[in-house]
This record gives sequence, structure tokens and C-alpha cells, in this order.
Amino acid sequence: MSLFEYAPAPESRSVVDIAPSYGLFIDGEFGEAKDTFKTINPATEEVLSEVALAGPEDVDRAVAAARRAFESWSALPGSERAKYLFRIARIIQERSRELAVLESLDNGKPIKESRDVDLPLVAAHFFYYAGWADKLKYAGLGPDPRPLGVAGQVIPWNFPMLMLAWKIAPALATGNTVVLKPAETTPLSALFFADVCRQAELPPGVVNIVTGAGDTGRYLVEHPDVNKVAFTGSTEVGRQIARSVAGTGKKLTLELGGKAANIVFDDAPIDQAVEGIVNGIFFNQGHVCCAGSRLLVQESIASELLDSLKRRMTTLRVGDPLDKNTDIGAINSRAQLDRITELSEIGAGEGAERWSPPCELPDRGFWFAPTIFTGVTQAHRIAREEIFGPVLSVLTFRTPAEAVEKANNTPYGLSAGIWSEKGSRILAVADQLRAGVVWANTFNKFDPTSPFGGYKESGYGREGGRHGLEAYLA
Ligand code: NDP
Repeated sequence: MSLFEYAPAPESRSVVDIAPSYGLFIDGEFGEAKDTFKTINPATEEVLSEVALAGPEDVDRAVAAARRAFESWSALPGSERAKYLFRIARIIQERSRELAVLESLDNGKPIKESRDVDLPLVAAHFFYYAGWADKLKYAGLGPDPRPLGVAGQVIPWNFPMLMLAWKIAPALATGNTVVLKPAETTPLSALFFADVCRQAELPPGVVNIVTGAGDTGRYLVEHPDVNKVAFTGSTEVGRQIARSVAGTGKKLTLELGGKAANIVFDDAPIDQAVEGIVNGIFFNQGHVCCAGSRLLVQESIASELLDSLKRRMTTLRVGDPLDKNTDIGAINSRAQLDRITELSEIGAGEGAERWSPPCELPDRGFWFAPTIFTGVTQAHRIAREEIFGPVLSVLTFRTPAEAVEKANNTPYGLSAGIWSEKGSRILAVADQLRAGVVWANTFNKFDPTSPFGGYKESGYGREGGRHGLEAYLA
């Protein structure tokens, strides 16, 4: 199939100023730390900035600042806290072009996604929780719900700004104060957010940002003066955190990995299903915890669907994340690229058939062509483990019961998709799937009013919606 040649349409990177170095944001001020690390653009390997690495004393200072701020912040009427959150939401909207470019530079995701998905959802999240701040009594959580205190929050690199919003908006709306650690490879949008807090005149200490690697996260979640831990990331680190928090009285929510089944029945509209499959696994380079990474297709339509899917994949544009035509950007880090490469080689070694459309990958930076594996069985590692990249494992089934059995045969339970023309079939199958979110005839749809979270090794607790308030209230 021939592809239209599009002229390059790059977004200008000059819309955002990146400082050569950034300190830690504690008690409303940027301050230095003993050590630093570099953050790079994964599409070019160019160093973007040098960022402070928070040690135990820095985390101590940040938690102490959050503790001091808690007294007055939690005593404010909800309607006053709401004003700050509305202000933050509006500033994010006003500065969303800068933020989208920054996110794409630091993360590698296509600008059309950071601009049209991440940033609008970030603002929506703050608007939504701003609306709750003065209505907590009516949230169904008792007549006088109280904030917990200082929240220690650790987030991953796949949606840096959106995960920040998921964590900070409900925490502030409910009267808690925050120390947040962004991922080592994507600290810049959280530091930009620190500036947004200053612009909104948020009282010092209500939000503190400590940048660093895994150890900084560990100091934070293990800090004795933290009352609430919220983590999004790998199941392995989630397990460590659950162990270290056990018995301390800290409240904990964990949003971990996934291996979602995207189930296509024989009566599904093929073209729409193909769009949903592409969105499910290639959105954000597949760095999505709820990605539809296992396609379960009914055997009778498998070859027709796969032909269509392959044709569609040849039209995906891989390359410069700042180009507005780009569909698939850069892999976030060399470590992640190595992991995707390794698991894909294991998939081929175990006998699955690998296919990618012809595509030219840039010489510098971290890239992986969109890939599908057919002939995958339940025993294959690529059917069981989270690859967290643009790699789809395709399995087939004959009956709805077999589809459900295969979909649930995973240690995870975060999300699933069902494609069928029949409403009764969708409801019957959704009811049997052990997944926190089930999409029907769509995929990867997010909304701040809708709770999100998993079963089994995908973690516990819900973020978003009224349910998301519960994690921050006693
Ligand atoms: P991690 O779980 O290590 O990273 C998530 C966050 O936790 C980061 O901020 C990280 O810091 C921090 N962290 C690391 N170790 C600790 C610790 N002991 N205590 C507290 N915080 C810690 O994920 P990775 O980036 O290492 O990715 C590994 C794999 O995890 C991926 O290949 C993917 O499969 C999966 N993953 C799943 C995500 C999801 O949303 N489901 C998100 C990210 C990854 P830092 O990154 O700075 O070291």
C-alpha cells in the first residue's frame, strides 16, 4: 500500500525554555543538592539539562516542609483549596503548548499525543478534583472525612505529567500535602509544574518535588513521617514498596503493570477493531500499563483481521516526536529499548512469528519498529510478561468461554477490551473478565471522572473519580 509523503511539520522547540540545570523544589524554593544527573532527549541522546539528585537529607527536608504546610493547608476551607486547584488547571491550559513540547522532548512521545491527550487530561484532572474540594462530605466517605497528612508519591516515565496530575490533584483537593518523585529519565515536566505552583501562589511546602533515581523513591516511601504512599510503576518495585510499608500504618495505593487482552469477536467491525488494536498497543510506543498487548482474535476472522492490521501498520510513521505527523516516537531509554529487544528475541526464539512493516529508524536515539508476533501461545513469555513497548502478541480463540479463559490467564488484571456488535455478548464477557477497566469497541479511553486501577499483580486502590478521593482520606 502506498503512503502519502508528508512534508515535515515540526513543532518549534523554542516555545519552551529549558534551564541548563534544575534544583530540588522544597518549601516553595528551588535549591541545590550534593549530586546531579543528566536528563536526555531519547530521540537524539542530546543532554537536555542537569538535575539535582535528592539524597536522604533532601527527602527529609521535603517531608518536613510538607508537614509544616499541612497544618494550614488542611485547615483551609475546601472552597479555598479549590481556588488554587482551578488556578493550577488554568495555568496548565495556558502553558500547555510549552508543556507538551517539554514532555515530548524529555519522554520521546509524539507531540500529537502530548498535545492532544496528555495535557488536556492533565488540566481536566485538576479541574475535576478542584470541583470535589468543597464537597468531600458528600462523597459517600462519611460525614467528616479527614486528610491523611503528607503523601509520598512516586511516578514512572511513561506519562510523566499525567501521572503527576493523577497523584497531586486528589491529594491537594482532600487537604493533604505532597512530596513527589518523578522518574529519573523524565523529571522536567514535574519541575515545570513546580513553577506552575509558584505562579499559582500555592503556599510553600504544599507541593515539593524531589528528583532522583530509585533510591530517592525508596527514601521517600520509607520515610517515617509520610502518612500515605502512592506509587505507579513496575510490579517488582511495587512489591518492594508493599513490603516496606507493611505494618507502618501508612495508607498505600499501587498502580502496577498489565498484560491486557484485547478480544475481537467474529461479529466485530474489522476496520474499527484494527484502529482500536493500533491505538491499544502503539499509542505512546506501547509504554502504557493498560496497553492492549495481547490480541485475542476469533479464529474464523484471524487471517482477514491480521491482513488489515498489517496494512494499517505500514502507514504508521515512526520518527521525530516533535513532528506533528509522527505516530510512534522514541523509546524512553536505552534500558527500556534493551528490555523490549530482549523479550522480542525471546519471542522469536520460542517459535512465535515476528513481523514489522518496513520502516527506517533514525540513527541516533532509541527506536523500535512496531512489531506483531503471531502463533503465540499462552506458554510464551511474550504472552505473559509486560514488554512495555510497541510489540503485540496475537493469540486466537474459538468460543467466548475460551476467550475469557485466556484473557484471565495472566498474573495481571488492569484492563481489557472487547470488540463485538452484540451488546449482550459485551456485557456477558465483561462481567467475567478480571480487569479493573474493560473497554467495549474502543480502547485506551481515559477520563478523570472514571476510576482506574487493577486486580492481582496490577496493584490495588483506584485513581480518578470519586473513588480516587478515598485513597487520601481517613
Ligand atoms: P520502576 O518501577 O523502577 O519505576 C517507577 C518509579 O519508581 C520511578 O520513579 C523509579 O525511579 C522509582 N523507583 C525505583 N525503585 C524504587 C524503590 N525501590 N522504591 C521507590 N521507588 C522506586 O520502573 P522502570 O522504569 O524500572 O521500568 C521497568 C519496567 O516496569 C518496565 O519495563 C515496564 O515493564 C514496567 N513499568 C510499568 C509501568 C506501569 O505504569 N505499569 C510504568 C513504568 C514501568 P527511577 O525511574 O528514577 O529509577
